[in-house]
Amino acid sequence: MITEDYLKNKINEPLENKEKLIALRKAFKTTRDRQNENKVLFPDLNERKERLKKIRDFSIGNKELLSQAIKNFEKNGFRVFYANTKKDAVDFILNEMGNEKLVVKSKSNVTKEIGLHEHLEKNGVEVIETDLGDYIIQLSTEKPAHPTGPACHLSRYDIAKIFSESFNKELEPDPLVLTKIGRQKIREYIEKSKIGITGANAICAEEGAVIIINNEGNINLVQMREKKHIIVTSIDKLYPNIEEAINMLKLCTYYATGASITSYIEIIAGISKTADIEKMLFKGMQGPGEVILVLVDNGRTEALERGYKNLFYCIGCGNCLLDCPVYYVVGNEYGYKGYLGGRGTSASYFLENSDTSLENGLFFCTTCNTCEISCPVGIGNAEYSERLREDVSSTGILFPTHEKIMENIRKTKN
Ligand code: SF4
Repeated sequence: MITEDYLKNKINEPLENKEKLIALRKAFKTTRDRQNENKVLFPDLNERKERLKKIRDFSIGNKELLSQAIKNFEKNGFRVFYANTKKDAVDFILNEMGNEKLVVKSKSNVTKEIGLHEHLEKNGVEVIETDLGDYIIQLSTEKPAHPTGPACHLSRYDIAKIFSESFNKELEPDPLVLTKIGRQKIREYIEKSKIGITGANAICAEEGAVIIINNEGNINLVQMREKKHIIVTSIDKLYPNIEEAINMLKLCTYYATGASITSYIEIIAGISKTADIEKMLFKGMQGPGEVILVLVDNGRTEALERGYKNLFYCIGCGNCLLDCPVYYVVGNEYGYKGYLGGRGTSASYFLENSDTSLENGLFFCTTCNTCEISCPVGIGNAEYSERLREDVSSTGILFPTHEKIMENIRKTKN
């Protein structure tokens, strides 16, 4: 059971050990400075945001659009699996591993949400993260601190310590040396693996295509594993077409990093194949033999039905975290897995359960709604936070401080 003391400790711990908060704030300032520098590249920023909001409203929960997407993916040679629950998703993916004991994967909040990494490892499959930030988090006992910069709260000294312990070798706290070591280790695993797992930033209905963005170039290597490319994503990543998805990706990149575009935009709209010899079809010519798309629901449909649609407009840019007064003092203790801050905490109510949401800070939000101003799609957490708190309280959960407040209100009639 989550107690008030547990939550107080969660808040006090980062305040007592401020180095990580300082590193996090420094990283956030760099992002904000870069956003300001590059703002000139987006003279139409407000129009883009409006366009994105309309498209999110049109696409999320649009069953016809989702059916169209699935039909077109199948036409393009993808194998599609719709997972109602996270258990359905992880069981399906484990089965797809066959005899393989190693899999490489790229950044994906949905895989974190469904606990894929843990499930595969528990069943004897080694999972290696190939994004450097995620790899650092994997080697440590840390939690991610930003959707696209998971290790941004760690200094070079922290990372040198993590690598030194993991690789049994004393390493200098030199960012370039550490980066090169990380690259070499990740490469070794990629070369050995026959199956790659990625997430997807967008699924495009008209074309039956997925889009994945990245800067490191790891996605391309992961998706080209010889046997299978398994794409794990959620049903709220739906867009009518590639053009609308690209608008989202540009905004997501700008708000997440301050840059106007990522180094790589991977668009996958089919499987690797050839029929160059006597028209005989061969699948997996230079790319994987199979491309499998796992579409995860895991509580999203229920959330939509209960009036929380706007919560799933999120494009995962993390811009709300930069201005959130709670995140400023609590850091990544506020949020759920890769879904950080108030929005992530509220979403966890549906993606997991009310206890998880409570544990991750359902009562932390000040309801200032600064997030609504920062968010490119206008998600304000205050309303959701209040509604969900009401839900939780109606089940009898009341902390001593709440009782005290109620008592005082009764006493003073104010
Ligand atoms: S809630 Fe808005 S600002 Fe925060 S990560 Fe999602 S889209 Fe970005």
